[in-house]
Amino acid sequence: MNIVIFGAPGSGKGTQSERLVKKYGLKHVSTGDLLREEMQAKTKLGLMADSYISKGQLVPDDVVIGMLEELVANNHDVPGFIFDGFPRTLPQGKALDEMLAKHGEKVSMVLSLELEDKELVDRLLKRGKISGRSDDTKEVIESRLKVYYGQTAPLKEFYKDQGKLVRITGQGSIDEIFESMTSVVDRIIA
Ligand code: ADP
Repeated sequence: MNIVIFGAPGSGKGTQSERLVKKYGLKHVSTGDLLREEMQAKTKLGLMADSYISKGQLVPDDVVIGMLEELVANNHDVPGFIFDGFPRTLPQGKALDEMLAKHGEKVSMVLSLELEDKELVDRLLKRGKISGRSDDTKEVIESRLKVYYGQTAPLKEFYKDQGKLVRITGQGSIDEIFESMTSVVDRIIA
């Protein structure tokens, strides 16, 4: 079972992914977390990624795709993946299908967390105060949302055409949203 958690920045992808991973024993793959680890370790990749992330832009496709290919190839013994923050562009979506197909796998479902912009911005600003993430500031949040609508949201059509898109409201308590997500997953895997 391979699940893609989809949604705008601030929609709760990371929080829900962590819980889903625990419940279903899947491997959590967060490209944002992986890139931040590289940034903290000040690797060449991390320094390069920082120059995009701090402006609210996407890290180039070939870099992120290369990172994921390696990870998928090195983890063929896991029962499945939860992809969180990947894919974020159409080329990434196509690359994900190809890399899974190489291992006889596919995307099982795409859970899309839907939330209004105002709520997204409020949450990110709140998170910025605690996390100190350089991209959780008002200006950078605006550009992340623009990038989301321009480059990432079109992936919804891509997955809708494949019959894999499930929309879930991102409004409500963490428990309520988790409950909606698990009922969808349980129905699909039953
Ligand atoms: P959020 O979804 O809250 O914006 P993430 O932690 O998923 O946060 O991502 C933070 C930043 O890392 C993104 O704004 C982007 O610059 C970079 N990033 C993460 N995933 C990808 C990806 N798949 N492709 C390109 N850039 C990415």
